[in-house]
Amino acid sequence: MKRKRKTKIIATIGPASSNYETISELFRAGADIFRLNFSHGDHQTHLDNILNIRKLEKNSGRPISILTDLQGPKLRVGSFQNSEGVILKTNSNFVLDLSKEKGSEERVSFPHPELYEHLKIGQNIYINDGHLKLKITENKNNKINTKVISPGKITNNKGVNLPDLKFTLPAITEKDESDIEFALKNNVDWIALSFVQHANDILNLKKRIDGKASVIAKLEKPSALKDLDNIIKVADGIMIARGDLGIEVPLETVPVLQKKIIRNCRRSAKPSIVATQMLESMITSPIPTRAESSDVATAVYDGADAVMLSAETAIGRFPLRTVETMNRIISEVENDAHYSNIIDLNYKKEDINSSDAIVIAAKGISSMASIKAIVTYTTSGSTTYRLAKQRPPSPILSITPSKSVARQSCLVWGVHSVINEEKIPETKIAEESAKIAIREKIAEVDDQLIITAGIPFGTVGSTNSIRLIKINKEYG
Ligand code: PGA
Ligand code: MN
Repeated sequence: MKRKRKTKIIATIGPASSNYETISELFRAGADIFRLNFSHGDHQTHLDNILNIRKLEKNSGRPISILTDLQGPKLRVGSFQNSEGVILKTNSNFVLDLSKEKGSEERVSFPHPELYEHLKIGQNIYINDGHLKLKITENKNNKINTKVISPGKITNNKGVNLPDLKFTLPAITEKDESDIEFALKNNVDWIALSFVQHANDILNLKKRIDGKASVIAKLEKPSALKDLDNIIKVADGIMIARGDLGIEVPLETVPVLQKKIIRNCRRSAKPSIVATQMLESMITSPIPTRAESSDVATAVYDGADAVMLSAETAIGRFPLRTVETMNRIISEVENDAHYSNIIDLNYKKEDINSSDAIVIAAKGISSMASIKAIVTYTTSGSTTYRLAKQRPPSPILSITPSKSVARQSCLVWGVHSVINEEKIPETKIAEESAKIAIREKIAEVDDQLIITAGIPFGTVGSTNSIRLIKINKEYG
C-alpha cells in the first residue's frame, strides 16, 4: 500500500478507538502514526493498543509508528466533594491549598507544595484548558487566595497553567519514569515529553532512553520558546502543542509561532507536528467547521511533517470520519499547483553541506525529468530526513535494514519506508531499488528512479552518491 499524501496523520487512541477493528480502519483511512496519551489510561490498556498496532503492522506489511506521550510536569487541582465539580462565579473568592480534603465552592487542593513560595499577588492561574482564570489576591500560610476573573465549571483533577510562574519544575516526574520504562519495554518508536522548559530536559530524557526510541519535545511553555534553537538541535522531532501553548502565551501569537517553529525545524531536518483542536468540532459533529478545515490546510501549507488528532479520535463520536476528512483536506492542498512553491524554503548557502548538495540535486533532477521516486538507502535515517527536508515533488522511497528507522520515518513528510533486512552489496542497489519500487507499486518497467545513498553503507550522515536509473525488463 502506497499513500499518495505526503503530510502525515497522527491519530490518538483512546476509549473511542481502543480495539483492533477501529485501529485498522483508522490506518486504512490514513493514520500513519498512533499516539498513546499517558495522561490517561492504564498500562494494560496501552499494552493492548500496542499489541493491536503491531498485529496490524504484521497484517498490512507496512511499518507503523507508535508515539507515546508522557504527561511531564502537568499541574492539576484535586477532586471535589461533588463529583460533578463546582461552578465558580465572576468576582467570587476561591482558595487553592495543600489540604487533602475534597474541594467545595470555596476551595480545592492544589498538591504542588514546591510552587507555593513562587506564586505572587497579581499572577494569573488558568484552570481547565484556560476556560477559568483566577487572579492571586493573597498568598499566606500555604493558602493561595484568588479572585475569579473568567467564571466556569471546575471538575476533578483539571489541569492548571501558571504562565507567570518563575520556577523550573522537575521535567520528568515519577509517573513519567514508570511510563518511560513501560514504553521502552514495549519498543515504542517515539517518546514525547510534555511541558519541556529547556534543552536540558530533552538531553536528560535522551540519556534515560539511551537510543532505544526517538524523542519529541512538546513546545507548550514560554521558557521552551526562549530555548527554541537548542531544543530543536537536541530533540529528534518537535510538537507544536497548541492546547497548552495557547494558554501559556497569548493566543494570537500561536499562528505566527507555528510558522516559525516549522521553518526552524525544517532547516534542521527535524520533523514537526502541528497538534490540538485541528478538527475539534468533529468530537461531536460528523462534519468540521470551515475554520477547522482551513486550519488543517494552513499547517500543510506551512510545510509541517504531520498533523495530529487528539480527542477527535480518542473520545470522539466519529474517529473514522475525522481521519477521512483530514486525509481529504491534506490531499486537496497537496494537489494545489502552488503547494510546492509555497513550501519551498530558501536556504542560506552557508547552511548547505555536501550531503545536502546531493539531495538538492536529486530534487532538482526529479522536478525536471520524469522520475517516479527518489530512493534513499539509509542505515540511520539521515539521508531520508535530509532529502525530506527539501520537500521533493516525487515520493521518497526509503529503504533501510532497521525496523525502528522505518517506523520512525512514518512521521517524516513524503516518506514511504521499506524494511530490507537483507544485506545487499553497493553494486546491487540499482537492481534492488527497482525491484522494491515495483513491488511497492511505486514504479513500473521503463520508469526512472533516482537513488541516493552514503557509500560505503553504514557511515552515518554521509550522503555522497546520486544515480539515475531506468528500470529494466528483468526487474519486472
Ligand atoms: P496534550 O498536549 O494533549 O498532552 O495536552 C498537546 C497540547 O497541549 O496541545
Ligand atoms: Mn499539552
